[in-house]
Amino acid sequence: MLQDLVERLFIDGSWRRGEGAHIAVENPATREVIGHVAAATPREVDQAVAAARKAFKTWSRRAPLERSRALHALGDNIAAEADAMARIMTLEQGKPLNEAKGEILKLAEACHFYAEEAVRIHGEIVPNTTTDIDSLVVREPIGVVGAITPWNYPAELIGWKLCAALAAGCTIVIKPAELTPFTALAIAKMTEKAGIPAGVVNVLTGSGAEVGQALVEHPDVDKIAFTGSSRVGLQIQRSCTTIKRLSLELGGNCPLIVTASADLDAAVKGAVRRSFRNMGQICIAINRIYVARPVAETFVCRLGEAADRLVVGNGIDTPDADVGAMASAEPLNKTMDHLADALARGGKLIAGGRAPEGEAFSRGHFFRPTVVSDCTHAMKVMTEETFGPLVGVMAFDNLDEAVELANDTPYGLASYVYAKDADEIRYLSSRLDYGNVAVNNVDAGIMNAPYGGRKQSGVGYEHGREGMLEYLNFKHIRIRYDEPKAG
Ligand code: NAP
Ligand code: MG
Repeated sequence: MLQDLVERLFIDGSWRRGEGAHIAVENPATREVIGHVAAATPREVDQAVAAARKAFKTWSRRAPLERSRALHALGDNIAAEADAMARIMTLEQGKPLNEAKGEILKLAEACHFYAEEAVRIHGEIVPNTTTDIDSLVVREPIGVVGAITPWNYPAELIGWKLCAALAAGCTIVIKPAELTPFTALAIAKMTEKAGIPAGVVNVLTGSGAEVGQALVEHPDVDKIAFTGSSRVGLQIQRSCTTIKRLSLELGGNCPLIVTASADLDAAVKGAVRRSFRNMGQICIAINRIYVARPVAETFVCRLGEAADRLVVGNGIDTPDADVGAMASAEPLNKTMDHLADALARGGKLIAGGRAPEGEAFSRGHFFRPTVVSDCTHAMKVMTEETFGPLVGVMAFDNLDEAVELANDTPYGLASYVYAKDADEIRYLSSRLDYGNVAVNNVDAGIMNAPYGGRKQSGVGYEHGREGMLEYLNFKHIRIRYDEPKAG
């Protein structure tokens, strides 16, 4: 499939050879170039937005059932091509093949979820002060959406936007991350195969500063749906040249609190999964852990052992590895910087702290899952988003202190608690200032509940019915009726 996508842009239902420069895409496990993509030019950005505008006229007026069928077909096509799409993702992103396939299948599920939501776009009839008037509150699609996405979940983070937008009746221009553009182009192939009309979905590859920024500044884009860093999110908010709807799913610095009542084995298992999965390159990764002092030593020891057991591998050759290569040198360098900072300030290295040994790891962006204990809030690992396979641990003496430390951050995306005591669970979950709190599990986001951040972690929601509302305007239609004429 990859060969068909090289240097192509998907505009108005056709695969155009990009007229601008080419960008090399590397396999982060080997640093080999897997292919080039086109850097879309300003003219191509205009063409894609114009195509989406034209398609909006008809797509927004299709019966919801038709849009629903199209999304079901998209889900079926994606699931049928999951192996090929997963291979593309692993080649450009580095995560193990089995995990990439899992992500593709979750993208297919998102298609089916929003296919079902498409037929449930209801309205309301609202009472007035007199009985001769009906106020109808109806929902209408916003228009043309510019979707800008990062490289850590190259399929799902497009999918939530694409599926919710299409279900609502919007059309979309997608700008994927430069590191992972082929997955986005493969998704476009599937939309074509599913018979989604020309112009409804467009994919433009290229850099964020140029192509992404051009979408943000484009007067004919009605909404920007962005997932990425808080820095770029703020830049987007500041640089819109016209009023636009914005959804910003931004960075996190997510805490885990483990109380004395917790099932420690479960807490260790959860901590390992959510600190290191996808090499910690997850916005809702556990960055920092606060453990009740009486159980801290045991917890740290077991966490270190569990981290050491994780298998690091080249995602193509070792499809069932626990973790693969990091996506690029940038997050790896940040991880090493946060680690060096923690160790210089008195942190104790418990596991990892180095690249895995062997020829297989000599060229790629590999690192061992790393645990540091005895951390404090003077360290970057506890106060900044690492976005890498590093977690810091610190002991606490009472729940108030744990809450204060957990909330001591500009971010508010997800937080985690392991506790068995119901009073502790209630106390903590009501005080954690986060959009998501997962208790005795680490899957903070599920498809049918809203997912979004507070504070510098963003505005708006994805997933659930709430995720589709982000693509709809309300319209109030107020109608006054007369009594029918007698006779
Ligand atoms: P990023 O640097 O902010 O980039 C995200 C996207 O924005 C990429 O497509 C990027 O393009 C583009 N971009 C960069 N500058 C832009 C500009 N001036 N105007 C418009 N678009 C621009 O983030 P990243 O490094 O790829 O991803 C990691 C970050 O994403 C982390 O902070 C993580 O927490 C966050 N994230 C959040 C969520 C969530 O749901 N809240 C989920 C996943 C990740 P290029 O990269 O191609 O230049
Ligand atoms: Mg970046």
